[in-house]
Amino acid sequence: MFHEAQKMLEKYFGYSSFRKGQEEAIKSILEGQDTLCIMPTGSGKSVCYQIPALLLPGITLVISPLISLMKDQVDALNNLGIASTFINSSLNQTEIENRIAATFKGNYNILYIAPERLESERFKALLKNLPISLLAIDEAHCVSQWGHDFRPTYISIAPLIKELSRRPVVAAFTATATPDVKQDIVKLLDLETPDIYVTGFDRENLSFSVVRGTNKLNFVIDYLDAHKNQPGIIYAATRKEVDRICDYLHKKGFPAGKYHAGMSDIERVQSQEAFIFDNILVMVATNAFGMGIDKSNVRYVLHFNMPKNMESYYQEAGRCGRDGEPGECVLLYGGTDIHIQKFLIEQTAQSPERKSCEYKKLQAIVDFCHTSQCLRKYILKYFGESYTPNSCDNCSSCNDDGELSDITIEAQKIFSCIKRMGERFGINLTAGVLRGANSQKIHQLGFNKLSTYGIMKEYPLREITDIINLLVAEDYLYMTEGQYPVVKLTKKAFSVLNNEEKVLKKVQKPKQIANTDLSLFDLLRSLRKEISVKENVPPYIIFHDSTLQEMSKYCPTDRKSMFRISGIGEAKFQKYGLQFIEVIKKYVEEHRITPAPQKEISAESNDTRTPSHAVTYEMYEQGKTLEQITGERKLTLITIQEHLVRCWNEGYEIDWSKFINPEHEVLVLQAVKEVGRERLRPIKDVLPDEVDYFTIRAVLCKHQDKL
Ligand code: ADP
Repeated sequence: MFHEAQKMLEKYFGYSSFRKGQEEAIKSILEGQDTLCIMPTGSGKSVCYQIPALLLPGITLVISPLISLMKDQVDALNNLGIASTFINSSLNQTEIENRIAATFKGNYNILYIAPERLESERFKALLKNLPISLLAIDEAHCVSQWGHDFRPTYISIAPLIKELSRRPVVAAFTATATPDVKQDIVKLLDLETPDIYVTGFDRENLSFSVVRGTNKLNFVIDYLDAHKNQPGIIYAATRKEVDRICDYLHKKGFPAGKYHAGMSDIERVQSQEAFIFDNILVMVATNAFGMGIDKSNVRYVLHFNMPKNMESYYQEAGRCGRDGEPGECVLLYGGTDIHIQKFLIEQTAQSPERKSCEYKKLQAIVDFCHTSQCLRKYILKYFGESYTPNSCDNCSSCNDDGELSDITIEAQKIFSCIKRMGERFGINLTAGVLRGANSQKIHQLGFNKLSTYGIMKEYPLREITDIINLLVAEDYLYMTEGQYPVVKLTKKAFSVLNNEEKVLKKVQKPKQIANTDLSLFDLLRSLRKEISVKENVPPYIIFHDSTLQEMSKYCPTDRKSMFRISGIGEAKFQKYGLQFIEVIKKYVEEHRITPAPQKEISAESNDTRTPSHAVTYEMYEQGKTLEQITGERKLTLITIQEHLVRCWNEGYEIDWSKFINPEHEVLVLQAVKEVGRERLRPIKDVLPDEVDYFTIRAVLCKHQDKL
């Protein structure tokens, strides 16, 4: 039977092999064994029950907590040719009855339901007589009070299993499970001696950074500037904060959407749809957003505030890069974050036991924000997994290449001013005194007579508050709790005042992720968008970014080569294959690209150590020409050119002059003046034919700082 499973993976999903954990879980389910799968977000848990659903008789019932996720998954499955439906409170009674009738007729392989359905005796009675072979429970940690998403309705699942006329195989799935939660899942869902599969929690394609004490709004603006055209989420702790960030972004010309529980249902749905359909690229949201989002091409997740615990952090950050392409997770830590979280814990009045559990979890994430050890190692250790390398080379601790500047003098001025002000005032007034502001309050309090009044007058006010925030984040200062927090000195500050310790500030620059959207990938993306509007399904349900990226890399122009692209199964090819082939063919002709070498299945894509573009860069550094690299690597010229642009975006040095004809350079610069630099197509359109896309990109890169 497992051989059949492999065939289904290729036929329906277009993937050539199972990922870590999937094979074992599917085998175990097909053998009739209860199964618990603990695998990280994006690792492919759904396939573990979707493939058995195709092979087992009767129906697979999936219990899933969020309505929007359900709709997405069902849309995606039907798009793959797997007959599925869902029943939840978004449907009216007639629709529910129609779907139940069709389920009894055997029209579906998979039925998704929300756990709330189990509260209806009538509905449970109907389920009793359905031929359910497999019961899959998604987000199984929701059954545990110790988890971070406890849902009381999950408790009704175990009694349901007992009531069914025949006990199905039960498979539970989750991405977060500390040992307590794992035990709870087995016990409370009544799993019978389950096989338990825990695959690594590591998300290799994600980078993790913590940035402490920076001006957060400025950071976000710089970051968004460096990541134009890429979808991303900005999480903030409160609704008010979300509104504030969103307004600020609008003012700065970034069309961001927002999502929080204070908005109406309609507003939330509209905002979510706009993000899913790539109509808006930036979503600013509270943690209310995301559990129902299956969008695979989120390229970054910025945490504007520290979340309440590591579980929430990893779950939210994990929404980035589900397609396996690189993604960045950046947490902006500020001195007041800890107070917001403490306040939220206190607000949700709970048992003392629960409270102390929440405080313990909070401390773990505060430590994460301050640790200088590898962040990946820290995360994995938290989830009970060891990570043997000492450094991952892909987090802000390991890639500590920010420049250090000595701010001991500034810190001493600030500490001594706070001391003279009696440690009774907040950050803004302190900064005002240091800057020598002329406010009434300062005069009333007599702070204009202090020796520290105006000792930082050459600094902009914002820079002074930034430094104070950094000193809070680095524990030189602390903020009292309450509505009007005042800033006080810690022991560490006294060591600095006594010249026993220096204060160093890391100057971090936001990195740019590869921007591949300006060529064939861009054209394929536009086609996907057109289809998405026509069919009213999100773009990533048609094809993931990673599938489009493979297409732009291998330029498949016929059926056979198209099937070698990961993510293209029969149904997808039939629906969309020819349209995409047409665009690729046209592009290949326009650019006179030599036919792409066939993609060797799992050759390049399994190259996990050195990324492909870095291999190209090494060869470039050895002085090889583009043609030589193309020949040796058996890749198209366009791919090699893409690699260089990507390397440049990631900060590698490239001498673009080597590739640019000086006459063409002048023409491109003139064209950019005329039509702007945002999109390549309009630039190309006003240039003579012999100026190719690569020249345009090379000129844009070379003059990046001036254009
Ligand atoms: P999870 O539920 O664990 O968060 P999903 O089931 O949503 O993850 O899968 C994440 C992505 O990985 C999806 O785009 C899915 O199509 C893809 N995927 C799943 N299995 C494979 C596989 N064997 N090979 C390639 N991609 C896969």
